Amino acid sequence: MKTIDDFAVAGKRVLVRDDFNVPLDGGRVTDDGRIRAALPTLSALLDRGAGVIVCAHLGRPAGKPDPAYSLAPVAARLGELAGCPVTLAADTVGPSARAAVSALRPGGLVMLENLRFDERETSKDDAQRGMFAGQLAALADLYVSDGFGVLHRKQASVYDVALRLPHAAGYLVRAETVALRRLIADIRRPYVVVLGGAKVEDKFDAIGDLASVADRILIGGAMAFPFLAAQDHKVGTSLLAAGQVDVARGYLALAARAGGTIVLPSDVVVAAGRAAGAPHEVVAADAIPADRMALDIGPASARAFSASIRGAGTVFWNGPMGVFELAPYAGGTRAVASALISSEAFTVVGGGDTGAAIRELGFRDGSFGYVSTGGGASLEYIRGKTLPGLAVLEKP
Ligand code: ADP
Ligand code: MG
Repeated sequence: MKTIDDFAVAGKRVLVRDDFNVPLDGGRVTDDGRIRAALPTLSALLDRGAGVIVCAHLGRPAGKPDPAYSLAPVAARLGELAGCPVTLAADTVGPSARAAVSALRPGGLVMLENLRFDERETSKDDAQRGMFAGQLAALADLYVSDGFGVLHRKQASVYDVALRLPHAAGYLVRAETVALRRLIADIRRPYVVVLGGAKVEDKFDAIGDLASVADRILIGGAMAFPFLAAQDHKVGTSLLAAGQVDVARGYLALAARAGGTIVLPSDVVVAAGRAAGAPHEVVAADAIPADRMALDIGPASARAFSASIRGAGTVFWNGPMGVFELAPYAGGTRAVASALISSEAFTVVGGGDTGAAIRELGFRDGSFGYVSTGGGASLEYIRGKTLPGLAVLEKP
């Protein structure tokens, strides 16, 4: 894989795809981990005299401009961290972007607006994506892929644009692949995978593959509910992806034959709704009241998960164990993070929200073996899938 070190970039226009899908609170970036992770590549390019055009997406706007998803807060934070002005174009490949790029000088930085303001970015139609990618490519001389968290998406700015420009990996993509490769090629056992979070649909598939390599899969967060439902337990008003229940039943059967690889919470913290001040209590995972929502794993589960993690040789963790954003439901996530830190294992934490969670709870990235910026992407990688955004970098 070629990196930016293989190219002379002085005086060139370089289009960099980053993953700036960061959590926001009313126009303020609440966790800038992904922006910091992009800095080494951006600084190197700027120092070497490239004109840098950064592109990224934020959230899931409906394929058209929507001020609620503007990258403006990201541009502001990037400017602070990089210590240079960032010109944010008002569009992606339109007149504003083209004008900003023609005014771009060596060492200057332009950011395009949210790529998903154009529906062609995520289109399933190759020709549509190709057209958008062609317009992105026309802005630059070189394409640099550094948004590790989006490499599992076959999207215009991740995949198609690399077919149209000389291309290189950024330092983040290189660092991520070096760290994550250890979870494929160099697994110290026992290998424990911890899964949680709320993007269940995106990640559910991975469990089948992981069940065959991991010694244990500990499941918390909203990821646990299809499994509890598959065991015919009621999950009350908890976030349940109903379409996943049958699949979960299949995984449980598979795991039972393999000697009990999948471990579910035995207790959960429930409340009437998702609010910090609401009364909450711990109940057995097979006794969630019909009008209650499970928002965290309970203390007994946290102890069991922690013990399993402390005895591991390798741990991969993606997905918070509960709604960590609210203090009463952060206990499970805190316990898992502490167990990772005190474990002798090689530990990898992946996922935008999981990374944000550990930092918000006061842990330092450096206390873990590696903190990946990717959630879905790191899962796809460690289950052995080909990531379209990586494969395309290998093409001439
Ligand atoms: P990541 O970004 O790390 O891949 P996800 O996006 O899948 O993780 O999930 C993160 C979100 O999951 C958090 O915002 C958290 O509040 C939510 N979550 C965790 N447990 C639950 C639960 N029991 N019910 C609802 N949401 C949950
Ligand atoms: Mg997330």
